[in-house]
Amino acid sequence: MSKRVLVSGGAGFIGSHVTVELIQAGYEVVVADDMSNCDLTCFEGVKKITGREDIPFVKMNFCDLDAVNRLFDGYRIDAVIHFAAFKAVGESVAEPIKYYTNNLSSFLNVLEAARTHGGCNVLFSSSATVYGEPEKLPVTEASPRQSATSPYGNTKQICEDILRDSVKAYPGLKGIALRYFNPIGAHPSALIGELPRGVPNNLVPFITQTAIGKRECLSIFGNDYPTEDGTCLRDYIDIVDLAKAHVYAVRRMLDGKMEQDYEIFNIGTGRPVSVLELVTTFEKVNHLKLNYKFAPRRAGDVTAIWADPTLANQKLGWKAERTVEETLSAAWAWEKRLAERAHE
Ligand code: UDP
Repeated sequence: MSKRVLVSGGAGFIGSHVTVELIQAGYEVVVADDMSNCDLTCFEGVKKITGREDIPFVKMNFCDLDAVNRLFDGYRIDAVIHFAAFKAVGESVAEPIKYYTNNLSSFLNVLEAARTHGGCNVLFSSSATVYGEPEKLPVTEASPRQSATSPYGNTKQICEDILRDSVKAYPGLKGIALRYFNPIGAHPSALIGELPRGVPNNLVPFITQTAIGKRECLSIFGNDYPTEDGTCLRDYIDIVDLAKAHVYAVRRMLDGKMEQDYEIFNIGTGRPVSVLELVTTFEKVNHLKLNYKFAPRRAGDVTAIWADPTLANQKLGWKAERTVEETLSAAWAWEKRLAERAHE
């Protein structure tokens, strides 16, 4: 019998790519989402890519413990991948209570239901934001976490701690936190990708929306950083590579290969790329000119961060494979597909 994975927040950007990879690896998947920050575009895309019309979908809010319990009553769940969370850094500063309430209680409810339904494997989607401005680069999983600079970032740290403490206390519960660097791109089919609401906060959706003419001009935040070209350095990880890392992590949990009941892995390429390099690579691979200007630094940005992904490479057997060029061409194909749809 194939194992079943619950993907909370599975209709979103990362969740939909992960659902595809899980299904293609032979897992049964239940997708649950409250649709507060997405529509059904990506879920429909997942069905097309996998050729599976029958993927169970539950519209529900993970802050409702009764609903989470009902879900676990209705399906035998072998592992949960928890994405259901708010993710806008700026909004979290303006509305911390909203962020703490949603991001913490939804995760607590997942753990509570997992615990009371005989234990479970829980994979938490964490972030490199927990490292703050690192003193030493690249960062390994042993690099110190730093005080979060936003409530959003703090919820990632607190959820990691909740998972660590819960696996210690409750037999049958095991946990992995994946710390994502900068996930970008889209599925090569251009059937799923990022769908930001309003003005995008992240770099790549802003680039593609500028290229398509939805935004007038990209502002590059800061060109006076102590880096070679003065712009920030990040570790941009292709969304399909990132999604595959989840399959390897789930397999490690389900095959009983974990060396500790709680493990952490960096999910990145190990390759720093500057904002300016990313912009010029986007122009080159897609044969276009992007309207951009240099603007003041954005509050809260760190100068440079990239991963040492050795642990994930060795223990998960996972490695980032796609080039930045491939990723940026997929991101552009997705934006063009969205524009075509809008005209249909
Ligand atoms: N960035 C930028 N212009 C934008 C959005 C982002 O110059 O419109 C820069 C940002 O300052 C950072 C990098 O792009 O150096 C990545 O930002 P993003 O918000 O995508 O991810 P973060 O690293 O903040 O999680």
